[in-house]
Amino acid sequence: MPLWGGIEAGGTKFVCAVADDQGSIQAESSFPTTSPEETLRQAIQFLKPHPFEALGIASFGPLDLDPKSPSYGHITSTPKPGWEDTDIVGAFADAFGIPVGFDTDVNGAALGEWRWGAAQGLEAFIYLTIGTGIGGGMVINGEPLHGLMHPEMGHMLIPHDHERDPFPGNCPFHGDCLEGLASGPAIQARWGQPAETLPDDHPAWALEADYLAAGLVNFICALSPQRILMGGGVMQQGQLFPMIQERVLKLLGGYIQAPALLAKIDDYIVPPGLGKRAGVLGAVALAQAAHRTAAIEKGN
Ligand code: ADP
Ligand code: ZN
Repeated sequence: MPLWGGIEAGGTKFVCAVADDQGSIQAESSFPTTSPEETLRQAIQFLKPHPFEALGIASFGPLDLDPKSPSYGHITSTPKPGWEDTDIVGAFADAFGIPVGFDTDVNGAALGEWRWGAAQGLEAFIYLTIGTGIGGGMVINGEPLHGLMHPEMGHMLIPHDHERDPFPGNCPFHGDCLEGLASGPAIQARWGQPAETLPDDHPAWALEADYLAAGLVNFICALSPQRILMGGGVMQQGQLFPMIQERVLKLLGGYIQAPALLAKIDDYIVPPGLGKRAGVLGAVALAQAAHRTAAIEKGN
C-alpha cells in the first residue's frame, strides 16, 4: 500500500506524519516552530527514511496558492518573525523530488475531515478552528476553495456592542474582527486570564457564543454549507456547542428553511471527527490530491 507524507505547519509547532491510504498513521513526530532553517531541516530529517509517494503541507499563512505566481508555495506576509516570504514548498520539493500538495492549515484539515472525518459525503461544508487565531476553510466537491487567495474567515467583521463589551479587540489589522473578539488570546486579554481557566458558567462563554454565532450566520448565508465543523482549543469548552446552535437558529430568524439545519442543528454544527489529528491527516489528504494531480498531468 502506498504511503503519504503530511506536515501540519503551525505557528507554534510542526507535526509530521507518514500515513497509508486509510489515513492510518505509521510514524509521527512533532517539534516547536523555531526558525525556518531549523524547523524545515527537522521535518526533512524525520521524513527522509520513509518511502512516501507524495507530500502534503497544511500551513499557517497567509500563503501564495496560485500555481502561476512566482511566489507560489511561499508563506507570504506573516507577522511570525523570520517566516515572511519562506518558500516552504520549494524546500521540500528540492529535498524529495516528489509532488507536494500545499494549502492553508484549515483547508487541509477540512479536506482530511472530508476524506476520513465528520464531513464524509458532503458536497459543501466549512471547517473552523477557534484557537490562537480563528481560521476557516471550505471544501466543495472535494476541492478546497481558493478563489482570489484563500478564505480568511476569522477576519470577518461582526456586530460589536461596545457597551456590553468594551474590549476593543486584538487583531493587529482590524481590532474587533471575529478573530480580534473571539480567539483564545482575545478571551484572555478581555478577562485577564487564559480561556481554559474560566469556569463553565463564566459570562465569557455567553459572549463568545454570541460572537461565534454571528460569524456562523454570515458563513451560512454567504456560502450555504451543509455542515460546519468547529475545532481548536477554545471549542474544548463543550458547553459552547449548544449555546452556539441555539443562537444561530435565533439569528437566522426562521428565514433559511433547510431541514438539516432546523431539525438537526446538533448534527449541523459539530466538532471535527478526527479531533486533534484533523490537521496532520489533512496534510496527508493534500499529499494524495497532489499525487492524483501529478498523475493526470503526466497522462496529458
Ligand atoms: P493553535 O491555534 O495555536 O493551533 P489551539 O487550537 O490549542 O492552538 O488554541 C490555543 C488557544 O486556545 C489558546 O488561546 C488557549 O487559551 C485556548 N484554549 C486551549 N485549551 C482550551 C480550553 N480547554 N478551553 C478554552 N480555551 C482553550
Ligand atoms: Zn482581523
